[in-house]
Amino acid sequence: MNAKEERAALYEQGRALYFEKNASAEMRAQGLSLLLKATNRGHPQASLLVARLYFEGEIFSDQGEGEHQALLILSRMAKKGSLEGRTLLDSFCRLRYERAFGRLKRRGDLPLSDFDGREIVLNRLGKRYPVNAFLERKKGKNILHLQVFLRFSYTDELKNEKAFKDAVYRGIRAWQGEYRVFGGQPLQVKVKISEEGGRRARLRVMPLSGELYGSLGAIVKKMPAGKKKRRLESILYHRRSFAGAGGFWSAKGSKMIFLQSRGGRFDDLLELEAVTGHEFGHVLGLGDLYEGQVDGLGGVEEGCYPELDCYHIEGKQYNLVMCDHHAPIGNNDIEMVLLAFMQNKMQLYQPTGRNKRISYALGRGN
Ligand SMILES: [Zn+2]
Repeated sequence: MNAKEERAALYEQGRALYFEKNASAEMRAQGLSLLLKATNRGHPQASLLVARLYFEGEIFSDQGEGEHQALLILSRMAKKGSLEGRTLLDSFCRLRYERAFGRLKRRGDLPLSDFDGREIVLNRLGKRYPVNAFLERKKGKNILHLQVFLRFSYTDELKNEKAFKDAVYRGIRAWQGEYRVFGGQPLQVKVKISEEGGRRARLRVMPLSGELYGSLGAIVKKMPAGKKKRRLESILYHRRSFAGAGGFWSAKGSKMIFLQSRGGRFDDLLELEAVTGHEFGHVLGLGDLYEGQVDGLGGVEEGCYPELDCYHIEGKQYNLVMCDHHAPIGNNDIEMVLLAFMQNKMQLYQPTGRNKRISYALGRGN
């Protein structure tokens, strides 16, 4: 038997023992230990099953610890590209969130109001905004419209331009959906993308292919030594994608999303889509929830903000889009987008160098 067959056998035997109709306590314990072994060896079905058992409190008597173990297993699966692991991870996080915040009052028929009960008026329209943002009330429903004026710039031809553009569109549209903000008020987010602004469009998406990568490298090389230079050098070196707003973020300022691709081929479409989703969060005025020490951010510890804890995996890692680009967009993110456009001010999850103030949205639930 090779390693793969061995772990499959562990899973089959473990499952049979654990779910046997008249299983004794010992049989179940033995079954479980086989399932855990299969999970440790990375068997996908065993991992999903064990995560479920953990989450449902079948294994640990401590509910919180069981859930924590479940999220850890699933997050590892998701990191390796398992779609099933990703789906279950996201749904478990949502369940935890619903449990903590789900019973907030619904006030869908009233105008959207902020934490202090003041009605929110949002009407950022015009050619100078890369993203137009406005609130609409339609048949008693509150809708946030995000209208994106997009321009693609390339220096080199892309082989699969259509597929690349589609991935970028999907990444931006990922922000659409039904959310709950400011004390549980339902809000629908709609995204419209237009490339009709031509050269005037103020959100540029630039794949960092051959020539552009070289010229950006040259610009960074000439920059004065310091934090900003080190950050850009690290981004280019590790081929991470990034969004640029040119100095401080403001709703009007033109914005850029630079996309890098492994091997420079721009054919890792799922990755490009996910990265675009995260970078678009920066375009909308959100800071990172966590990046490594390279960018000088300290990270947010578990226990700081209850609405984030439901998404906490381990260390400073959260299953949220501004932490991990494959992770979902949370209610808190949308609350922060609203605040960014209302106050014309970037919304931070964690203090950065000059900017110490974190978003007003944090620590208030949703
Ligand atoms: Zn980021």
